[in-house]
Amino acid sequence: MTTMPTNTDTSTLRSYNPSTGDEVGSVPVTPVAEIDNIIAKAQAALPAWQALTPQQRADMLKPAGEKLIAMADELGKLLSLEQGKPIPEGIGEVTGCGSRMAEEVDEVATAVQPDILEDEGVKSTIYYDGYGVCAAITPWNFPMLMPHWTIVPALVAGNTVICKPSEQTPLIADEYVKVLNEFLPEGVLQIVHGEDDQGKALVAGDVNLIAFTGSKNAGQHIMASAANGLKRLILELGSKDPLIVLEGADLDKAAEFGARNALRNCGQVCVSTERIYVQDSVKDLFMDKLLTQVKEFKVADCNEEGASIGPMVMREQKEHVLSQINDAINKGAKLIHGNEPMGGNFVSPTVLDDCTHDMDIMTVETFGPVVCVSGVSSADEAVEKANDTEYGLGAVVFGEDETARSVGRKLTAGMVGVNRSLGGASGSPWVGARHSGYSYHSGPMGHRQFCQVRVVSTNEE
Ligand code: NAD
Repeated sequence: MTTMPTNTDTSTLRSYNPSTGDEVGSVPVTPVAEIDNIIAKAQAALPAWQALTPQQRADMLKPAGEKLIAMADELGKLLSLEQGKPIPEGIGEVTGCGSRMAEEVDEVATAVQPDILEDEGVKSTIYYDGYGVCAAITPWNFPMLMPHWTIVPALVAGNTVICKPSEQTPLIADEYVKVLNEFLPEGVLQIVHGEDDQGKALVAGDVNLIAFTGSKNAGQHIMASAANGLKRLILELGSKDPLIVLEGADLDKAAEFGARNALRNCGQVCVSTERIYVQDSVKDLFMDKLLTQVKEFKVADCNEEGASIGPMVMREQKEHVLSQINDAINKGAKLIHGNEPMGGNFVSPTVLDDCTHDMDIMTVETFGPVVCVSGVSSADEAVEKANDTEYGLGAVVFGEDETARSVGRKLTAGMVGVNRSLGGASGSPWVGARHSGYSYHSGPMGHRQFCQVRVVSTNEE
């Protein structure tokens, strides 16, 4: 995706407040011709970084967490000005990264400790070593959290890292990297700024692992480019998450979850509820409750008291959302709420009913504040429709316990919530199925994705 159209100076990347269009600040663009030198510096920093134990690397990062907490107000405001989310959410994102840092780095250090396997006469030690240089390429929707959840495990696992944040939100990523660099040796963590050309140059360069979070199309392009050097990949991509609401569900909880999960961060969340399939027998009641919840959302500038959602991050994103809404209405969807004209990048929270799979809005990622509903006659029909997608990041089902569990098990997503959100118990991986991902993050299993596994076997008496 492109930056604001006014950003015509190729040596400077300007960041704009999506609510007002005002410039928030700028960073120098990294010339593509510089990127090989930056990678060489990261390669040169590897031996000393890998000579440290995972726990030593983890301990180095802990004070960065404290610093982030101390700077949460200042950085949270910057994050919100640049991305558009209400300021308390911006501050919350920074505080979350800071306050979880110590626990996270210890978790990674523990996950990458060697395992020992023994048979009679042979002992095998399974080592988890960093791959080398990791390119961490990240999106704008959680502009500190996304760099954080890639950089931290990559570093502690023994990789040096080059971060390429989204061109929409370079300032907050730059501040994040500066804070970490106060505590890291030279060359271990670097940042490059620019648009996809800088990302492409990184992927094509002498890097060993590409940890990418972003759109499916960019992910596919990266996979094709990485094939040349058989580079390791972790791809966290887009989705079209379904919510299923069945007879016997707690409709208050289902409606609250559906509205909040479709609208939070203005729908710009990879696991947003983008489709709702509700059983006909409970649909009218569910719709009433859903609408009540949706009407609670206040769209406003991030500075405004009581704002629950801000603008879309950029004009192109707004145009994409509005065109999907219009396409759906033209094909027979019923407009229940919203779709009111709004200035700037703002989009009013919108509810559509009678949505069908010949509408783009039910098949192509929307990433906007739209709640799309479709009635189904049975749990089987709900499963069939929920799985009728190329994506598969998350899915949620509300219903009578036993039926909901059985439906949950039939869904093809990587993460499924049954009568709750899809967030798992601590230690669960963050994993997409189908075109929503390739490899995965988080929890001990996810941390090991940043590692080359090596097995050393010896004879034992
Ligand atoms: P995007 O793919 O346009 O850009 C992401 C990053 O990749 C940016 O830094 C961009 O400059 C860079 N880039 C773009 N094309 C590239 C290429 N060919 N080679 C190398 N780098 C390239 O995505 P976006 O619009 O910034 O983010 C929104 C997308 O991210 C949505 O699809 C959303 O679902 C997804 N996302 C997924 C997760 C997840 O956990 N699966 C989390 C957050 C966001």
